[in-house]
Amino acid sequence: MKCSVCSKEAIIEVRWKGKAYCETHFRGYFLGQVRKVFDKFGVKGKICLALSGGKDSAACLEALTHLDVDVEALFIDLGIPGFSEECREAAEAIAAKLDVDLHVLNLQANYGTTIPSLVELEGKKPCSMCGTIRRYLMNKYAYEHGFDYLATGHNLSDQLAFVFNNLANVYLVPFREIGPVLRPREEGKLVGKVKPLYYLTDEECKVYSELAGLPICEDKCPYAETATTNLMKRWLHSLDLEMPGVLRRFAESFMRISEGMERDEEISGCRICGYATTAGVCKFCRLMRRVRRKSRG
Ligand code: SF4
Ligand code: ZN
Ligand code: ZN
Repeated sequence: MKCSVCSKEAIIEVRWKGKAYCETHFRGYFLGQVRKVFDKFGVKGKICLALSGGKDSAACLEALTHLDVDVEALFIDLGIPGFSEECREAAEAIAAKLDVDLHVLNLQANYGTTIPSLVELEGKKPCSMCGTIRRYLMNKYAYEHGFDYLATGHNLSDQLAFVFNNLANVYLVPFREIGPVLRPREEGKLVGKVKPLYYLTDEECKVYSELAGLPICEDKCPYAETATTNLMKRWLHSLDLEMPGVLRRFAESFMRISEGMERDEEISGCRICGYATTAGVCKFCRLMRRVRRKSRG
């Protein structure tokens, strides 16, 4: 397979374009797709990137260092034995390699708890609590430190797997949040959200992070389930092999559907912390309140 631009040996096929690229031209394509999100949606200002230590957020941070944006990284230590330490070391190494400031927020040090102790106390699946905590802390940190946008490493495959997963559960609320950019909302102290890898697949992100030689963490979280999201991803990727470009077309269709939906649901400040909620007290504060009660016995 030859590169469609320069005829050197190609390293990857970008099916939706019907093109193959060598290393140089793939990097150009990848950065072009990231730049497109910023240009098309006019995202500007100070960006806080949620760095997990994995391939996607690492590739995202590397790509942002090539754009004209002011970016810093944030790592959240969830206190998962072994895994959190590995991820933290990787995040530190990635930030050092890219010469980006890294901030570390430790759940144990700041809130006296960890994901394993929450699982024990709540007897619930970790991933939804973990998601609530990460979303809350990332936004809070970005808001309090004057960032305009919080960037995450969600790619096209993640987005679609998430949407199909919700469709499979007849849960349509997340449709409101489809799309590469969500604007800031001062009433709930919400910074803007941007997904720079929105147009790029899992495979493209993996190849990009390998080419960039980023010291990523390859460990899997011990709680990572044989999640239905992974099943969805496998299904989507096999579909894309048979129908090149179908992933992009799905994303485009979902964005159009979401444009027709009521976007701005009523949000207000949580009675305890002041951050966004649609109920009186936000999910994070409710979780912490339960944990305090249960730990007191
Ligand atoms: Fe959190 Fe681990 Fe679940 Fe990912 S797999 S959401 S890190 S608990
Ligand atoms: Zn080339
Ligand atoms: Zn709250």
